[in-house]
Amino acid sequence: MSRLIKRALLWACAALGCVTISLAALMFWPDPLFAYSLQAGKIIVASDRPIPAVGGERFLHDCESLLERSPLKAERHEYRLYVTNARWRQRLFFLPHPDGWGIVYPPYFGGNAFLTGADFNTGRVVHWGYIGTPPRTLAYLCAHELTHVIEGEHVGIGRFLVPQWAWEGLADYVGIEHRETFEQLRDALGDRPVDTPMRVKYGSYPRYRLLVTYFIEKKGWTADQLLATRLTTDAAIQVMNADGG
Ligand SMILES: [Zn+2]
Repeated sequence: MSRLIKRALLWACAALGCVTISLAALMFWPDPLFAYSLQAGKIIVASDRPIPAVGGERFLHDCESLLERSPLKAERHEYRLYVTNARWRQRLFFLPHPDGWGIVYPPYFGGNAFLTGADFNTGRVVHWGYIGTPPRTLAYLCAHELTHVIEGEHVGIGRFLVPQWAWEGLADYVGIEHRETFEQLRDALGDRPVDTPMRVKYGSYPRYRLLVTYFIEKKGWTADQLLATRLTTDAAIQVMNADGG
């Protein structure tokens, strides 16, 4: 191999290494890219746009209230949430999940949560120009994503063994403000496949939430038991159905 090619490869590897290190540093410490922040209790929200005082405080209060009734206890003394309104920030921080409304990096990548866009005055999520509707409010998304951070604290790298119904269902169970009882949710969902209108009305993962509601409220499972289960979605549905659910 000629010296020129070797040198070019070396430079390419060095440049790639620099980009990777810079991206990892930003996941850990995104603050330089978010000029505005507001804190209430354990939650700090940072944004690339000014945060209105009244709307921002109401949002933090609502999110904290949802987390306080969570069966999974938050252990850290503070949680950080970043709102990436500008498109380039969205593209950068949502690289692993470009269509997501929210994303959480695991503890070994900083354990921070990101939301695509926010209107604090109305309490709505703004995602690529689309405005989220209840029950998927800004406070819902905050509590949903921070529950993923808290789940990560409880299970560490065991996260990859937690079935998706338990992982997502628990975050939805915490995030939904007007939480239905197991019977209400089961009767509402019936045997219908979960279509888009269903998601709009009951949140993003209504079937997963139904399972989580069943295991917590009917079987008396703790949140840690839920995160320790290895039941597949089908096996969990069988348990629920066998119980007359
Ligand atoms: Zn989620």
